[in-house]
Amino acid sequence: MPNDDKTSVDEHGQVRDRRGEWRSGRVVHLEPFLDFPLDVKRIVKTLFGFPGFFLPWFAIYMLVIGISYAFFTPELARMQTFDLAWIAEITARNLILLTIWNGAFHLWLYKYKMQGRKKKYNGKWMAKNNRIFLFNDQVYDNVFWSYSGALFWSAYECGLWWAYANGLLPYIDFETNPIWFVAAMLLVPFWRNFHFYWIHRLIHWQPLYDRVHYLHHKNVNVGPWSGMAMHPVEHILYFSCMLIHLVVPSHPLHMMFNGFQTGLGPAVSHSGFDEIVFNDEVALRNDRYMHYLHHKYHRVNYGEYNMPLDKWFGSFHDGSSEADAHFREVFKARVKARNNSVKTGA
Ligand SMILES: [Zn+2]
Ligand SMILES: [Zn+2]
Repeated sequence: MPNDDKTSVDEHGQVRDRRGEWRSGRVVHLEPFLDFPLDVKRIVKTLFGFPGFFLPWFAIYMLVIGISYAFFTPELARMQTFDLAWIAEITARNLILLTIWNGAFHLWLYKYKMQGRKKKYNGKWMAKNNRIFLFNDQVYDNVFWSYSGALFWSAYECGLWWAYANGLLPYIDFETNPIWFVAAMLLVPFWRNFHFYWIHRLIHWQPLYDRVHYLHHKNVNVGPWSGMAMHPVEHILYFSCMLIHLVVPSHPLHMMFNGFQTGLGPAVSHSGFDEIVFNDEVALRNDRYMHYLHHKYHRVNYGEYNMPLDKWFGSFHDGSSEADAHFREVFKARVKARNNSVKTGA
């Protein structure tokens, strides 16, 4: 990590380092749910604050899955047999949803640049005429791979719907088991992040990184469509979090939430902006600096906010210059150890 001494002030009065990076000045805080001893006050604030656990994103997902379940999901009886018509309906629904969701972020932030570079971490826009991307264009590349991802998401969803329809999955509903129904809904984001952390560490294993995960990391400067720009093998691993419904009792709404958050969440976490600013007074905090730093430094922040796995396993970078200095030393020591082992033939 280079020393970022030389700074400049951009058109919004934000200080940028010599690479054009802007920092909010706030360090990354993980959510306190698994910090011991438990800090009840912080937990309550994280749950019910704004933005917090429930608002706005959890609530938005509930609305989206509710509408999709009620109006854009085939009848269960039809899904007892594999038939192209209902599979196409679910796939089309997910592709359209992804287009609207990612498209809204992209149009606001990148196409029409509604807030310019205000609160944008990276000083640059999406790459054009760059041969590392498909079609020499970062956005087209990212859109292509995101749609590929939506096909895998839909394949998992269709397979699970077929299994629900045939009574093959452990099933609960709100009438018979309201407590577990609600608890399972609240646990979905934690499960997703737990699963993501481990598959993410797996694909950072060099042989898999070189063949699979490199594709996602072509995006150092990220935008909403970069989130799901992954190699198909990564899509298969990434959406395999949905397979938990094979073993844990659930309702199709849990499965939909699991899939929708996995499919739509990356646009939020890769927006590249610390805040979505609507006008001078109204802004939605969207601080996703944690994952932005993963794209910048690769070997830090494999997980997300609601589980302190990075903290537990020593890969947590909070965005401060102290953390920069710490990881600079860690990486230097790693290179030295590797060179030594090559020299000694160990
Ligand atoms: Zn990413
Ligand atoms: Zn990665």
